[in-house]
Amino acid sequence: MQAEIARNRARGKARSAFSCFSERIVCGGCGDFFGPKLWNSNSKYRRLVWQCNSKYRDRTTPKCQVTHLTEEQIQKAFVDAYNQIIADRERYILALEPVIGMLSDTAALEEEAQTLGERAAGLPAIAGHGSCQRPARTGSTGLPATLR
Ligand SMILES: [Zn+2]
Repeated sequence: MQAEIARNRARGKARSAFSCFSERIVCGGCGDFFGPKLWNSNSKYRRLVWQCNSKYRDRTTPKCQVTHLTEEQIQKAFVDAYNQIIADRERYILALEPVIGMLSDTAALEEEAQTLGERAAGLPAIAGHGSCQRPARTGSTGLPATLR
């Protein structure tokens, strides 16, 4: 079985406040999210597990065959992954600096804003100057005097 902690992806659904792992663990079998399930909620065998949300979604499609994970397995996997990143943080920082620079570069947006500002300055003012009012018709052509 393979599960990974996915980046925060919205997928159009509201996030559950149940756990910090909600909608972050992606099933390696089918790609759906893992969700928390409470087994034996009314007995002494009560246990919180995480399983693929496609496992019992409906009866018309085949069930996902990936097995469940315990909360402890997920916590350990998260801590292991976090410690791996911390141990190799210099490499991660070097790899991410160009991305941070790229995401922080607003030159193209500033150029577009300037172009749009210049275009907007060339447009006639509409609001508050009565330009939307029907022009006065004069003469037999029916056209405003300025258009004749
Ligand atoms: Zn699955």
